[in-house]
Amino acid sequence: MPDVELRAPLHLLLHVLVPVALARLCWPRDWKRAALWMLAAWVIDLDHLLADPVYAPGRCSIGFHPLHTWPAILVYAGLALPKKTRWFGIGLLIHIALDGIDCLLMQASHAT
Ligand SMILES: [Zn+2]
Repeated sequence: MPDVELRAPLHLLLHVLVPVALARLCWPRDWKRAALWMLAAWVIDLDHLLADPVYAPGRCSIGFHPLHTWPAILVYAGLALPKKTRWFGIGLLIHIALDGIDCLLMQASHAT
């Protein structure tokens, strides 16, 4: 299992690559706008500023930071439905999914 020195940069990279790749794949004619909206979803990481320390490599953000809890995730799913906010909503859900994968890797590496 990748350790934290590898996991943190990989995680940041995925936060950029996945939205851009999805935008190119699903909305090839409008991918730049779609990618920008999905990248804008990164703002929810501002809730990390409320935590102390702001960043802890071994901490799972899902269920810990206020914008990474289930009520917030339900709102994001709702945002993904109307056409106007769809890209932003999808971006938020991608963000949560990537953070969730990070948590799973974290737990897996703790278990060994
Ligand atoms: Zn996050």
